[in-house]
Amino acid sequence: MIAPPPRPAAPRLPPLADLHRHLDGSLRPATLKALAAARGVRLPDDIRFFTHMGLDAALARFETTLACLQDPDAVARVADEMCRDAAAEGVTTLEIRFAPRLHRGAPMQRIVDAAIEGIGGRAGLILCALYGDPPDAVRALVDLGRGKAVGLDLAGGPLPAHRWGLMDYREAFAAARAAGLGRTVHAGEGRPPSEIIAAIEHLDAQRIGHGTTLLHDPRALELVIERGVVIEACPTSNVHTGVIERFDAHPLPRWLSLGVRACLNADNTLLSDVNVADEYGAARRMPGMTPALWRRAIEHGHRAAFPRR
Ligand SMILES: [Zn+2]
Repeated sequence: MIAPPPRPAAPRLPPLADLHRHLDGSLRPATLKALAAARGVRLPDDIRFFTHMGLDAALARFETTLACLQDPDAVARVADEMCRDAAAEGVTTLEIRFAPRLHRGAPMQRIVDAAIEGIGGRAGLILCALYGDPPDAVRALVDLGRGKAVGLDLAGGPLPAHRWGLMDYREAFAAARAAGLGRTVHAGEGRPPSEIIAAIEHLDAQRIGHGTTLLHDPRALELVIERGVVIEACPTSNVHTGVIERFDAHPLPRWLSLGVRACLNADNTLLSDVNVADEYGAARRMPGMTPALWRRAIEHGHRAAFPRR
Protein backbone atom coordinates (compact mmCIF):
# COMPACT_ATOMS: atom_id res chain seq x y z
CA MET A 1 0.00 0.00 0.00
CA ILE A 2 1.21 3.49 -0.79
CA ALA A 3 1.15 5.92 2.13
CA PRO A 4 -0.60 9.23 1.48
CA PRO A 5 1.66 12.26 0.95
CA PRO A 6 2.40 14.13 4.19
CA ARG A 7 0.70 17.37 3.20
CA PRO A 8 -2.36 18.37 1.20
CA ALA A 9 -1.83 20.44 -1.92
CA ALA A 10 -1.82 24.17 -1.20
CA PRO A 11 -4.86 25.96 -2.62
CA ARG A 12 -4.83 28.46 -5.48
CA LEU A 13 -1.21 28.15 -6.55
CA PRO A 14 -0.22 27.77 -10.19
CA PRO A 15 1.85 24.71 -11.17
CA LEU A 16 5.21 25.03 -9.45
CA ALA A 17 8.81 24.05 -10.11
CA ASP A 18 11.29 22.80 -7.54
CA LEU A 19 14.82 22.51 -8.86
CA HIS A 20 16.67 22.15 -5.55
CA ARG A 21 15.53 19.21 -3.45
CA HIS A 22 17.99 16.82 -1.81
CA LEU A 23 17.04 13.15 -1.69
CA ASP A 24 18.77 12.57 1.65
CA GLY A 25 16.89 15.47 3.25
CA SER A 26 13.48 14.83 1.76
CA LEU A 27 12.29 11.45 3.04
CA ARG A 28 8.75 11.09 4.35
CA PRO A 29 8.86 10.96 8.18
CA ALA A 30 7.16 7.55 8.14
CA THR A 31 9.67 6.25 5.58
CA LEU A 32 12.60 7.45 7.69
CA LYS A 33 11.15 5.55 10.67
CA ALA A 34 10.57 2.41 8.65
CA LEU A 35 14.01 2.45 7.04
CA ALA A 36 15.70 3.18 10.38
CA ALA A 37 13.85 0.31 12.09
CA ALA A 38 14.72 -2.13 9.31
CA ARG A 39 18.38 -1.11 9.29
CA GLY A 40 18.93 -0.70 13.04
CA VAL A 41 19.58 3.04 12.85
CA ARG A 42 18.81 5.00 16.00
CA LEU A 43 16.84 8.16 15.28
CA PRO A 44 17.04 11.35 17.36
CA ASP A 45 13.81 12.52 19.01
CA ASP A 46 13.48 15.22 16.38
CA ILE A 47 15.63 15.21 13.28
CA ARG A 48 14.28 18.47 11.91
CA PHE A 49 16.39 21.58 11.55
CA PHE A 50 15.74 24.56 13.78
CA THR A 51 16.25 28.30 13.41
CA HIS A 52 19.86 29.49 13.23
CA MET A 53 21.35 26.07 13.99
CA GLY A 54 24.24 26.75 11.57
CA LEU A 55 25.30 25.02 8.36
CA ASP A 56 27.68 22.53 9.98
CA ALA A 57 25.08 21.33 12.50
CA ALA A 58 22.53 21.10 9.71
CA LEU A 59 24.88 19.06 7.52
CA ALA A 60 25.56 16.70 10.44
CA ARG A 61 21.89 15.61 10.47
CA PHE A 62 22.34 14.06 7.05
CA GLU A 63 24.50 11.39 8.68
CA THR A 64 21.36 9.90 10.19
CA THR A 65 19.26 10.01 7.03
CA LEU A 66 22.16 8.66 4.99
CA ALA A 67 22.60 5.73 7.36
CA CYS A 68 19.08 4.70 6.30
CA LEU A 69 19.74 5.24 2.60
CA GLN A 70 22.80 3.12 1.89
CA ASP A 71 21.21 0.55 -0.40
CA PRO A 72 19.61 0.87 -3.85
CA ASP A 73 16.14 -0.19 -2.63
CA ALA A 74 15.96 2.66 -0.12
CA VAL A 75 17.23 5.18 -2.70
CA ALA A 76 14.64 4.03 -5.26
CA ARG A 77 11.83 4.15 -2.69
CA VAL A 78 12.63 7.68 -1.54
CA ALA A 79 13.09 8.95 -5.11
CA ASP A 80 9.65 7.55 -5.98
CA GLU A 81 8.01 9.06 -2.90
CA MET A 82 9.62 12.43 -3.55
CA CYS A 83 8.04 12.50 -7.01
CA ARG A 84 4.63 11.60 -5.56
CA ASP A 85 4.91 14.20 -2.78
CA ALA A 86 6.01 16.92 -5.19
CA ALA A 87 3.10 16.15 -7.52
CA ALA A 88 0.72 16.39 -4.55
CA GLU A 89 2.14 19.84 -3.76
CA GLY A 90 1.39 20.97 -7.30
CA VAL A 91 4.96 20.68 -8.59
CA THR A 92 5.07 19.93 -12.31
CA THR A 93 8.79 20.62 -12.84
CA LEU A 94 11.00 18.71 -10.41
CA GLU A 95 14.70 18.02 -10.06
CA ILE A 96 16.05 15.70 -7.38
CA ARG A 97 19.69 15.72 -6.35
CA PHE A 98 21.99 13.52 -4.33
CA ALA A 99 25.65 12.55 -3.90
CA PRO A 100 26.01 8.91 -5.03
CA ARG A 101 29.28 8.35 -3.19
CA LEU A 102 27.55 8.79 0.18
CA HIS A 103 25.47 5.66 -0.50
CA ARG A 104 27.86 2.76 -0.09
CA GLY A 105 25.51 -0.20 -0.17
CA ALA A 106 26.24 -0.92 -3.83
CA PRO A 107 28.53 0.27 -6.62
CA MET A 108 27.81 3.90 -7.49
CA GLN A 109 26.36 3.03 -10.89
CA ARG A 110 23.72 0.87 -9.21
CA ILE A 111 22.91 3.65 -6.76
CA VAL A 112 22.42 6.11 -9.62
CA ASP A 113 20.33 3.58 -11.54
CA ALA A 114 18.17 3.08 -8.43
CA ALA A 115 17.47 6.81 -8.25
CA ILE A 116 16.62 6.89 -11.96
CA GLU A 117 14.35 3.88 -11.53
CA GLY A 118 12.57 5.44 -8.53
CA ILE A 119 12.08 8.71 -10.43
CA GLY A 120 10.61 6.85 -13.37
CA GLY A 121 10.75 9.80 -15.76
CA ARG A 122 8.91 12.19 -13.42
CA ALA A 123 11.92 14.40 -12.52
CA GLY A 124 15.44 15.26 -13.58
CA LEU A 125 18.32 13.86 -11.53
CA ILE A 126 21.28 16.02 -10.50
CA LEU A 127 24.42 14.32 -9.21
CA CYS A 128 26.14 16.19 -6.39
CA ALA A 129 29.87 16.35 -5.95
CA LEU A 130 30.88 17.60 -2.51
CA TYR A 131 33.24 20.42 -1.64
CA GLY A 132 36.57 18.78 -0.83
CA ASP A 133 36.12 15.82 -3.20
CA PRO A 134 39.20 14.94 -5.27
CA PRO A 135 38.86 16.40 -8.80
CA ASP A 136 39.10 12.89 -10.29
CA ALA A 137 36.04 11.82 -8.31
CA VAL A 138 34.06 14.79 -9.63
CA ARG A 139 35.17 13.92 -13.15
CA ALA A 140 34.06 10.31 -12.59
CA LEU A 141 30.63 11.57 -11.55
CA VAL A 142 30.24 13.14 -14.98
CA ASP A 143 30.80 9.76 -16.63
CA LEU A 144 28.34 8.21 -14.21
CA GLY A 145 25.68 10.77 -15.09
CA ARG A 146 26.20 10.85 -18.84
CA GLY A 147 22.94 10.11 -20.61
CA LYS A 148 21.13 9.57 -17.28
CA ALA A 149 21.37 12.67 -15.11
CA VAL A 150 20.43 16.20 -16.16
CA GLY A 151 23.05 18.05 -14.17
CA LEU A 152 26.10 18.22 -11.93
CA ASP A 153 26.14 20.09 -8.60
CA LEU A 154 28.75 20.98 -6.02
CA ALA A 155 27.18 20.69 -2.56
CA GLY A 156 28.14 20.94 1.10
CA GLY A 157 30.65 23.68 1.83
CA PRO A 158 34.38 24.38 1.80
CA LEU A 159 36.37 23.60 4.95
CA PRO A 160 39.87 24.84 5.83
CA ALA A 161 41.06 21.23 5.99
CA HIS A 162 40.03 20.51 2.40
CA ARG A 163 42.88 19.92 0.02
CA TRP A 164 40.71 20.70 -3.02
CA GLY A 165 38.56 23.74 -3.63
CA LEU A 166 36.04 25.00 -6.13
CA MET A 167 38.71 26.06 -8.66
CA ASP A 168 40.06 22.51 -8.84
CA TYR A 169 36.83 21.29 -10.43
CA ARG A 170 37.16 23.37 -13.62
CA GLU A 171 38.03 20.40 -15.78
CA ALA A 172 35.24 18.25 -14.36
CA PHE A 173 32.64 20.96 -14.90
CA ALA A 174 33.92 21.53 -18.45
CA ALA A 175 33.46 17.79 -19.02
CA ALA A 176 29.94 18.07 -17.64
CA ARG A 177 29.17 20.74 -20.19
CA ALA A 178 30.65 18.62 -22.97
CA ALA A 179 28.52 15.69 -21.79
CA GLY A 180 25.38 17.81 -22.03
CA LEU A 181 24.90 18.11 -18.26
CA GLY A 182 23.64 21.31 -16.64
CA ARG A 183 25.85 22.93 -13.99
CA THR A 184 24.69 24.22 -10.62
CA VAL A 185 26.83 25.09 -7.59
CA HIS A 186 26.03 25.69 -3.92
CA ALA A 187 27.74 29.08 -3.59
CA GLY A 188 27.45 32.20 -1.48
CA GLU A 189 25.43 30.29 1.12
CA GLY A 190 26.36 32.88 3.74
CA ARG A 191 29.91 32.76 2.33
CA PRO A 192 31.56 35.61 0.38
CA PRO A 193 30.06 36.51 -3.02
CA SER A 194 33.46 35.85 -4.62
CA GLU A 195 32.38 32.19 -4.47
CA ILE A 196 29.41 32.97 -6.72
CA ILE A 197 31.71 34.74 -9.19
CA ALA A 198 34.16 31.81 -9.15
CA ALA A 199 31.35 29.28 -9.71
CA ILE A 200 30.13 31.20 -12.75
CA GLU A 201 33.49 32.14 -14.23
CA HIS A 202 35.40 28.93 -13.56
CA LEU A 203 32.76 26.21 -13.33
CA ASP A 204 30.43 27.74 -15.90
CA ALA A 205 27.54 27.44 -13.43
CA GLN A 206 24.17 28.20 -15.04
CA ARG A 207 22.48 28.09 -11.66
CA ILE A 208 23.60 28.93 -8.12
CA GLY A 209 22.22 27.24 -5.02
CA HIS A 210 21.36 29.76 -2.27
CA GLY A 211 23.61 32.71 -3.29
CA THR A 212 22.38 34.65 -0.26
CA THR A 213 25.33 37.08 -0.36
CA LEU A 214 24.78 38.04 -4.01
CA LEU A 215 24.00 41.68 -3.23
CA HIS A 216 27.18 42.12 -1.18
CA ASP A 217 29.22 42.60 -4.37
CA PRO A 218 27.98 44.57 -7.39
CA ARG A 219 30.29 42.51 -9.64
CA ALA A 220 28.56 39.29 -8.62
CA LEU A 221 25.14 40.85 -9.23
CA GLU A 222 26.23 42.17 -12.63
CA LEU A 223 27.63 38.81 -13.68
CA VAL A 224 24.49 36.93 -12.62
CA ILE A 225 22.23 39.34 -14.53
CA GLU A 226 24.49 39.52 -17.60
CA ARG A 227 24.72 35.73 -17.96
CA GLY A 228 21.14 35.03 -16.95
CA VAL A 229 22.30 32.77 -14.11
CA VAL A 230 19.40 31.42 -12.07
CA ILE A 231 19.53 31.62 -8.28
CA GLU A 232 17.86 28.68 -6.53
CA ALA A 233 16.56 30.39 -3.40
CA CYS A 234 15.70 28.26 -0.35
CA PRO A 235 14.64 30.80 2.34
CA THR A 236 13.43 28.44 5.06
CA SER A 237 16.63 26.43 4.76
CA ASN A 238 18.62 29.68 4.93
CA VAL A 239 16.92 30.66 8.19
CA HIS A 240 17.73 27.25 9.63
CA THR A 241 21.40 27.44 8.68
CA GLY A 242 21.43 31.01 9.98
CA VAL A 243 22.64 32.66 6.76
CA ILE A 244 19.41 34.70 6.68
CA GLU A 245 18.06 36.31 9.83
CA ARG A 246 14.34 35.76 9.12
CA PHE A 247 12.24 34.47 6.22
CA ASP A 248 11.01 38.00 5.53
CA ALA A 249 14.58 39.31 5.35
CA HIS A 250 15.44 37.09 2.34
CA PRO A 251 16.65 39.17 -0.61
CA LEU A 252 14.41 37.35 -3.13
CA PRO A 253 12.06 40.32 -3.84
CA ARG A 254 15.05 42.63 -4.29
CA TRP A 255 16.76 40.14 -6.62
CA LEU A 256 13.65 39.81 -8.74
CA SER A 257 13.14 43.57 -8.96
CA LEU A 258 16.76 43.97 -10.12
CA GLY A 259 16.21 41.46 -12.91
CA VAL A 260 17.84 38.41 -11.32
CA ARG A 261 16.34 35.13 -12.50
CA ALA A 262 15.57 33.60 -9.10
CA CYS A 263 13.13 30.87 -8.10
CA LEU A 264 12.02 29.24 -4.85
CA ASN A 265 12.91 25.71 -3.78
CA ALA A 266 12.42 23.46 -0.74
CA ASP A 267 16.01 22.16 -0.32
CA ASN A 268 15.02 19.48 2.25
CA THR A 269 11.35 18.72 2.82
CA LEU A 270 11.93 16.45 5.83
CA LEU A 271 14.73 18.30 7.59
CA SER A 272 13.31 21.79 7.06
CA ASP A 273 9.71 20.52 7.35
CA VAL A 274 8.76 22.58 4.33
CA ASN A 275 7.70 22.21 0.73
CA VAL A 276 7.87 24.55 -2.23
CA ALA A 277 4.15 25.32 -2.09
CA ASP A 278 4.68 26.59 1.48
CA GLU A 279 7.66 28.64 0.31
CA TYR A 280 5.70 30.27 -2.52
CA GLY A 281 2.73 30.83 -0.21
CA ALA A 282 4.84 32.58 2.41
CA ALA A 283 6.91 34.50 -0.16
CA ARG A 284 3.79 36.42 -1.22
CA ARG A 285 4.06 38.30 2.06
CA MET A 286 7.78 39.14 1.83
CA PRO A 287 8.34 42.92 1.98
CA GLY A 288 8.81 44.21 -1.57
CA MET A 289 7.19 41.18 -3.22
CA THR A 290 4.56 42.05 -5.83
CA PRO A 291 2.21 39.62 -7.60
CA ALA A 292 4.16 40.19 -10.84
CA LEU A 293 7.56 39.43 -9.23
CA TRP A 294 6.08 36.39 -7.48
CA ARG A 295 4.75 35.00 -10.76
CA ARG A 296 8.10 35.69 -12.40
CA ALA A 297 9.86 33.56 -9.78
CA ILE A 298 7.55 30.65 -10.63
CA GLU A 299 8.27 31.08 -14.35
CA HIS A 300 12.01 31.20 -13.72
CA GLY A 301 11.79 27.86 -11.95
CA HIS A 302 10.02 26.17 -14.83
CA ARG A 303 12.31 27.68 -17.46
CA ALA A 304 15.56 26.95 -15.64
CA ALA A 305 15.10 23.18 -15.46
CA PHE A 306 17.98 21.36 -17.12
CA PRO A 307 16.91 19.60 -20.33
CA ARG A 308 16.01 15.94 -19.95
CA ARG A 309 16.95 13.38 -22.53
ZN1 LIG B 1 21.14 22.29 -1.25
